[in-house]
Amino acid sequence: MNKPKNKLSMEELTSYAKRRGFVFQASDIYGGIAGFWDLGPYGSELADNIKSSWWKNFVYKKSNVVGINTAIIQNPKLWKASGHIETFVDPMVDCKACKHRFRADHLAGVDTNDLKKLDEKLVNLACPSCDAKDSFTPSRTFQMMFKTSVGPVQDASNEAYLRPETAGGIFAQYENVRETTRKKLPFGIAQIGKAFRNEITPGDFIFRLREFSQMELELFTHPDQAKDQYEASKAAAMDWLLSLGLSQENLQYHDHADDERAHYAEASVDIQYQYPFGFKELYGIANRTDYDLQAHSKESGKDLSYFDELTGKRFLPFVIEPSVGVERLLMAVMLDAYDKEEVNGEERVVMRFTPQIAPVKVAILPLSKKPELSKLANEAFDLVAGDYNVEYDETQSIGKRYRRQDEIGTPYCVTVDFESLEDKAVTVRERDTMKQERIKLVDLRAYLDDKLGL
Ligand code: ATP
Repeated sequence: MNKPKNKLSMEELTSYAKRRGFVFQASDIYGGIAGFWDLGPYGSELADNIKSSWWKNFVYKKSNVVGINTAIIQNPKLWKASGHIETFVDPMVDCKACKHRFRADHLAGVDTNDLKKLDEKLVNLACPSCDAKDSFTPSRTFQMMFKTSVGPVQDASNEAYLRPETAGGIFAQYENVRETTRKKLPFGIAQIGKAFRNEITPGDFIFRLREFSQMELELFTHPDQAKDQYEASKAAAMDWLLSLGLSQENLQYHDHADDERAHYAEASVDIQYQYPFGFKELYGIANRTDYDLQAHSKESGKDLSYFDELTGKRFLPFVIEPSVGVERLLMAVMLDAYDKEEVNGEERVVMRFTPQIAPVKVAILPLSKKPELSKLANEAFDLVAGDYNVEYDETQSIGKRYRRQDEIGTPYCVTVDFESLEDKAVTVRERDTMKQERIKLVDLRAYLDDKLGL
């Protein structure tokens, strides 16, 4: 068993994320709403940087991958074809004594939607909430898609769903994208966007949400190459997570056994992260065979087969799907980056984000609020601001301001002092080593760009 590297408990993480402006409860002033969270100024920067890194790595760096942006509400036929209307359900039970509701599979400790099997497992279990024995209702399934209606008339003919994953829109646009970009197999279509699931038991902070963001890639490939593409996707996902600064010992592959896998998938694996509540799914990668294109061909009546010019044959491509949730990853990145050390007898808390994803890249800190220093510090701000997030802070003592920047993980602090007025130079402090260097103002932008690697 790996030892957890995380130094924060869930309670500490939740309160840290709020106190430092990363994550707030949605509708906080109204007491919140279960399963929904808002990203604060630093959380939204962090999430954007994570998304941008994913996009650069899996779209820009690949000559055979393009990105799209599809609607959250689609024709409900799409979700019928994908199987979501019928099978995107979770099993639940209620305790008759205390009325608490649970995910039946979580309670039973088995990953199945087989209601009979679940009821058998639950027979002698006590309710985790009130300890009552034999108090569960029979298990029943619960549709996880949020329903809405389109247009002014609210009847069954106008029913629609908020998408439960971004992938559906990709499959429905597969042929348009292939035709307009003239891509040949293997090629990928990527999408980043919101997904909605009416989770029975949202929780663990931002781990299980009812509204979240996914980064998904559908890689269309010749069936003969699917195995290789699947293995390559597994490795690429892990490499990218490591490049974000996550530590190897907090990551592991969890290959799905036959009974854990969706019936159509030939192989699937989760990359799990060691959260304070144990190793749990962060990133899922599956070989979905030709299930999706076959289902959408059938439901839509459109031929989605691929014509191979080399062999003169038509076939349905297989799909490899790596999919990762932004918020689950943001949480992992915060847990992994958190560090505490003693400096000169005092405790220093540092978020050791890689410069690539740090929410604030540079802080400009004039030593005092004197107008001549403010003027020069503002010049320094204008010099570096624009391409990345730069903060300007002139309140409190310089020590407190350094500490504040350390706590949000800012890699570089630039101090403008009275000497700066004479020598037109500033002091740059590096977050991790706390080393300071005097840099001419004219060289500041190039120096920081180089250090940040941007
Ligand atoms: P779980 O078993 O934890 O419910 P899943 O297997 O249903 O997850 P997928 O459908 O494979 O998840 O979705 C792909 C990714 O989307 C997951 O690996 C996860 O990072 C993210 N994700 C899924 N559901 C949620 C959720 N309710 N809240 C936040 N992120 C989610």
